[in-house]
Amino acid sequence: FPQPFSGKVALVTGAAGNIGLATANRLATMGADLVLLDLDPEKLEQARAALGEHDVRIHVHTCDVADSAQVHEVIDRVAAETGQIDFLFNNAGYQGAFAPVQDYPEADFTRVMHINVCGAFHVLKHVSRHMVARRYGRIVNTASMAGVQGPPNMAAYGASKFAIIGLTEVAAKDLAPYNIRVNAISPAFMGPGMMWDRQVALQARAGSQYFSSNPDEVARQMIGSIPMRRYGNIEEIPGVVAFLFGDDSSYMTGVNLPISGG
Ligand code: NAD
Repeated sequence: FPQPFSGKVALVTGAAGNIGLATANRLATMGADLVLLDLDPEKLEQARAALGEHDVRIHVHTCDVADSAQVHEVIDRVAAETGQIDFLFNNAGYQGAFAPVQDYPEADFTRVMHINVCGAFHVLKHVSRHMVARRYGRIVNTASMAGVQGPPNMAAYGASKFAIIGLTEVAAKDLAPYNIRVNAISPAFMGPGMMWDRQVALQARAGSQYFSSNPDEVARQMIGSIPMRRYGNIEEIPGVVAFLFGDDSSYMTGVNLPISGG
């Protein structure tokens, strides 16, 4: 791999999760130093170990993105440690419950909003303060196709991801004068593994006219709704993020790129 990102520092939230880790791995392959943030300290150490083969600096910080004071403190510490934050992959997220809106648990709605919307905002705000000072930054927010077309039984998640796309458009305008580009990606059904299984099982259990109550049939229904007739692989995401960080997307900001099989 050529190393176009050597000399750059990339901060990844939700870095211990599937998409975060796969993307951190790609950015390290391209030469970027990494700052990994996640709520889960154990998974974070496993992520650091998994990335150990790369010849780049790796900083890790446990951080709850929903806690604004903690985000402020951690981001300032990171900026002091690294002297620069060039790329932000603002990716931490939580899928929430599956239930029709009339039954959707209120506490879970609030939790999803705190993590997905307030959390993404806190990180975006505090990282962009440092980017504004350096007049350079590339930000990618993880939205979802659930933020483009509201899926059934996902009131909180759908609303939160619509919010992320809105936040991306606003931030792109606010930060354009400072040479900071802000874009979003929207994965749809990704598999195989826990997220796919959870989604299929919970949509089956939630009961609706849109999906069968049999998980195997739900899987077939979901795949049948995708023009490419397969779910996406996690490894089909990092290259899109790298494209949005890199110079090939130099005239793109405020855009949401679906990664959805059509
Ligand atoms: P994942 O559960 O593997 O990873 C999410 C990570 O975020 C976890 O490591 C978790 O510990 C961390 N996290 C959760 N709450 C946090 C908090 N408050 N503060 C800090 N970290 C926190 O899931 P993933 O699929 O890798 O998800 C990454 C992003 O992609 C999420 O925003 C998710 O909504 C989005 N997404 C995923 C899919 C999919 O099918 N996997 C599809 C569309 C969008």
